[in-house]
Amino acid sequence: MTLTLSALAQRHVMSQPVYEPGKPIEYVARELGLDPAGIIKLASNENPLGASPKAIRAVRAALKDSQLYPDGGCVRLREKLAAKLGLPPEQVAIGNGSNELLELLGHVFLGAGDEAVMGRPAFIVYKLVTLLFGATPIEVPLEEHRHDLKAMAAAVTPRTKLVFLACPNNPSGTVNSADAIVEFVRSLPDHVALVYDAAYAAYVENPPDLRPLIAEGRKVICLRTFSKIYGLAGFRVGYGYASAEMVALLNRVRQPFNVNAAGQEAAIAALDDEAFVSRSRRINAAGLKQLTKGFDRLGLETVPSAGNFLLVRVGDGDAVFQKLQRAGVIVRPVKGYGLPEWVRVTVGTKAQNERLLAVMAG
Ligand SMILES: *Cc1c(COP(=O)(O)O)cnc(C)c1O
Repeated sequence: MTLTLSALAQRHVMSQPVYEPGKPIEYVARELGLDPAGIIKLASNENPLGASPKAIRAVRAALKDSQLYPDGGCVRLREKLAAKLGLPPEQVAIGNGSNELLELLGHVFLGAGDEAVMGRPAFIVYKLVTLLFGATPIEVPLEEHRHDLKAMAAAVTPRTKLVFLACPNNPSGTVNSADAIVEFVRSLPDHVALVYDAAYAAYVENPPDLRPLIAEGRKVICLRTFSKIYGLAGFRVGYGYASAEMVALLNRVRQPFNVNAAGQEAAIAALDDEAFVSRSRRINAAGLKQLTKGFDRLGLETVPSAGNFLLVRVGDGDAVFQKLQRAGVIVRPVKGYGLPEWVRVTVGTKAQNERLLAVMAG
């Protein structure tokens, strides 16, 4: 046997960069001999308030039917979201996290010779998905930590199939104005679809509404998730709304039971828990202020964020990440995003933020 398995793999599989997720609490506890109960994770923009209690109750009730396959069409969840959005259910797609929808978009649109335009830095999954399908990522540097929409429009070529735009962006937390985004979408040529990632839109006061653009026939899909403000990251449920044609294309490439039953129930119940969402939004706004002020007092620059996380310039990002981790606070180094001097911290509860700031000060 002289051939390795890797030699048999598709070329773009071998060039696929490895995604480094925020470290799970259990890993860090084991690595450093710490008590997991004393560790706080401010690395993956999860909701520090936990999940909606209504969602948890709904999941408990659903567990007794675990022998059954889930509803492959996510009918109840799609109907509920559609009613909330004022769209027909045919214009709503559900994914195993919005990450799955990003991958499905790759399946539908990207192949060798195609290009996808994205910011740098932007959510790393855009690049991973583009490379996975043998297409070429065209990364357009941010301008003062914000998407440079003029430069992104200029980066579109006849080979461009997709443009990825997150608002707020991750890891920078910045937003572009609604007017600028609408103008950008209108400027895109007919052979390009916009993937508008609104994972953090629920934290924004008046997020841009792209439904009118979808209604006028623009090629736009808006992605949302239950992982962030709804506190359901563990269940992996995300959704997209777009034209019925776009949703039908995504349905062609997804697996029949892509969203599990517990996740569907959790998401349906979470949509009824407006109080939980409002409280999450309030606590996040207060926490952002607390952290921004705290870092300012420590003489550390932050990027004004509209999301539930904050980029902080700490000098040596890896060293500060290690120091915080030894103290039981997990944050996110962003060297992989080309920001070696920064770390990204999730906004926690008041007490968690205080602890983060105290360790940073020490
Ligand atoms: C967290 C995040 C998502 C959500 O991913 P899920 O797969 O739904 O958990 C999507 N886009 C961005 C930019 C994110 O930061």
